[in-house]
Amino acid sequence: MTADLNANSVPPATPGAVGHIRLTSHSGGSDALPIRWGAPTAAERGPVVGTTSRRAHRNVIGTHSGSYSVYRALAVAAGALSREHRADLTDTAPTDVVGPYPQWSEPGAIVSLDPWGAMTAEAFGTELAAGHDIRPTIAITKAHVVVPEIADAIANGRLHPDGRYLLPSGAASVTKAAIEPVWHLPSVAQRFGCTEAELRRVLFEETGGMYPELVTRSDLEVFLPPIGGQTVYIFGSAGDLADPEVELTARVHDECNGSDVFGSDICTCRPYLTHAIEECIRGAQRGGVGLVAYSRKEGRALGEVTKFLVYNARKRQVGGDTADQYFARTECVAGVQDMRFQELMPDVLHWLGVRKIHRLVSMSNMKYDAITGSGIEVGERVNIPEYLVPEDAQVEIDAKMAAGYFTPGPVPDAAELGKAKGRGLDG
Ligand SMILES: [Zn+2]
Repeated sequence: MTADLNANSVPPATPGAVGHIRLTSHSGGSDALPIRWGAPTAAERGPVVGTTSRRAHRNVIGTHSGSYSVYRALAVAAGALSREHRADLTDTAPTDVVGPYPQWSEPGAIVSLDPWGAMTAEAFGTELAAGHDIRPTIAITKAHVVVPEIADAIANGRLHPDGRYLLPSGAASVTKAAIEPVWHLPSVAQRFGCTEAELRRVLFEETGGMYPELVTRSDLEVFLPPIGGQTVYIFGSAGDLADPEVELTARVHDECNGSDVFGSDICTCRPYLTHAIEECIRGAQRGGVGLVAYSRKEGRALGEVTKFLVYNARKRQVGGDTADQYFARTECVAGVQDMRFQELMPDVLHWLGVRKIHRLVSMSNMKYDAITGSGIEVGERVNIPEYLVPEDAQVEIDAKMAAGYFTPGPVPDAAELGKAKGRGLDG
């Protein structure tokens, strides 16, 4: 059925894609290595192979690099990239060892990333030598992080350079890891309380039929979705994250380009992020370890177009931008208030071996519930200090506190929520 459907929509030949169309809806052969999700060792689990050059070796649906897989296709179409290119992984090995940890094989603990994704070269050397195109889905490196707010914290005496975690220049020394999404479909379905068949069908239909294998190849259980991944920043020793005796300060942050990068003042995203970095540095200096896990879920995973539409709707509504209409305006435009689905978020914490977060730098009840619901203990919850909340972001913070976000102070009442606090569009 799907083969016919595809045959009717054969695109014109391009310089980068010559020859017959390779339909994905039928098995390409029996040379693919098996994946046993959740197996206790890399050898038993098997590698994730999303190569497009050797169809018979593929053991997943989709391709590597998340949303950037589409740019890779463009590069091939433009003739700039050979589809036969193999990554030369010389000297790309992780700077720090992460795991393996018991969580890697706990049933259902990790469903949306490949815990062995950074270890491909060492774990699957034999298969690589045999010609399998196995690519890392995780990369781990080191960096210096230079943030103006940290320089301010030093100038104001809140932070003091120690030469190790915080350098005299004001740079923080970190280990960082980039993680691409790798979904085990049966486990993802279980996490969301639907059947695997329902999940596969909806993923197929709502991506415009982008991946026929979702509905034709039930033998392929792993999907590399074309979405953004995550980055983690570790302040201190990565190995300490798995030791519940070492104080862990952590923030799980969802991307907000407008605030995080450009400093838009309608929300608290960047102030909260930089506050978390400050807390992480201070925690590392106390002998603990800090962690910021950053997820590419722009605008509550609704995207920036939706987000900016909502901003206009909020500011143009009768009565002005008020906290009591904050979530309603989003729902009017998007149909839901939030699509971040924090249910998948704790996976990255389990990859890092985290058992206990002593100080969670977040007020979100959804994040807290997801983390504790996944079996990770949370001690103190650290709210954003009032002096870091931009004036125009008071609408957001009031609405969130009224909706159940953690606050050590008073929850705004109905009268407070009804006052217009946001700036107008002409302001
Ligand atoms: Zn924001």
